[in-house]
Amino acid sequence: MIRSDVDLSSANTLGLPCRAERFLATDDIGSVRDALRQAVKQGWPLTVLGGGSNLVLHPWLPGLVLQPTFTNLRFEEAGQGEVLVHVGAGLNWHVLVEALAERDLWGIENLALIPGHCGAAPIQNIGAYGVELADVLEQVHLLHLEDGREAILGRDDCAFGYRDSIFKHALENRVVITRLVLRVSKRAQPRLDYGDLASRLPAAPSASDVAAAVSAVRREKLPDPAVLGNAGSFFKNPVVSAEKARMLLSRNPGMPHFPLADGNVKLAAGWLIDQCGLKGLREGHVGIHDRQALVLVHHGGGSATELLALAQRVVGEVQARFDVTLEREPRLMGETAR
Ligand SMILES: Cc1cc2nc3c(=O)[nH]c(=O)nc-3n(C[C@H](O)[C@H](O)[C@H](O)COP(=O)(O)OP(=O)(O)OC[C@H]3O[C@@H](n4cnc5c(N)ncnc54)[C@H](O)[C@@H]3O)c2cc1C
Repeated sequence: MIRSDVDLSSANTLGLPCRAERFLATDDIGSVRDALRQAVKQGWPLTVLGGGSNLVLHPWLPGLVLQPTFTNLRFEEAGQGEVLVHVGAGLNWHVLVEALAERDLWGIENLALIPGHCGAAPIQNIGAYGVELADVLEQVHLLHLEDGREAILGRDDCAFGYRDSIFKHALENRVVITRLVLRVSKRAQPRLDYGDLASRLPAAPSASDVAAAVSAVRREKLPDPAVLGNAGSFFKNPVVSAEKARMLLSRNPGMPHFPLADGNVKLAAGWLIDQCGLKGLREGHVGIHDRQALVLVHHGGGSATELLALAQRVVGEVQARFDVTLEREPRLMGETAR
């Protein structure tokens, strides 16, 4: 049932105040289709919501907010030691990671503890500890918002990149993802070359061991949104040309940098922000986390406007000092007033 004037402040991990004009959470595909038809007929803007962990919400979301809550999970033998995992868009991502790790299925254990729902994972091609969704994604099942027609995209159709996909470009705000199909493996294939993961694990770890180690590192480094409002990394790691990286390195020899296959170089946004002396800064109700400069936090009582002003300050200081432009990672939604 579509509800009116619904409070979404606890439905976004930043805990920003927001009300939806209309809201529908459903695990019934027929209801999703009916809602899409009604929205088109009435001219309501449509917003799809997952777990709200990658959003900056203004106080008012007009139209209809649709939250798919399908949590079905099915395993299909694919031969050659591989398994296809069919998962509903509404299942919590970490619940999926644990379900696979318990069955000793390998592929997404490094993505443990990333908040949010499975349906949102392709939007920014979630990634952590050297692994990204694109490594295991087989299919995305979706409905087009404009007419409810179904489509299935294969991995190559999704134009995945670093925190990027077709869902941030040609299909931005145009689809609701209903199901993912992942291809995972029964063969042990730990990827431990990132950070100090290997040193925390036995010689032949299980998938559960790896997921637990990743979770432990993340708990040490990142604030828990249940305790302190945040949306994880607020900025993407910027990618610069090799020439620009050389120039920056000549002035900042300790600068972390990661050469990419295309010749460009990825920099660590958190390091750049830290060098500007901004870690731990607090401005009113918002601030920069004191252990991780990449994470902007909401201490409560603040607004998206306040948070965006702080973000703008960060962008400006990094630009002035390094001539590098930081790009926001979470999506901005809604309007400042009804
Ligand atoms: C503490 C913390 C740590 C994080 N760490 C990481 C990390 O390591 N790596 C990483 O990649 N991300 C990370 N994130 C970001 C976030 O967890 C991911 O982007 C996650 O996939 C967002 O899922 P969500 O369900 O919360 O999406 P939401 O925030 O609800 O939505 C995000 C976007 O996806 C769209 N969307 C959501 N569901 C659907 C759907 N079913 N169909 C169509 N569109 C949809 C929304 O419209 C919106 O544009 C972190 C966030 C937090 C708070």
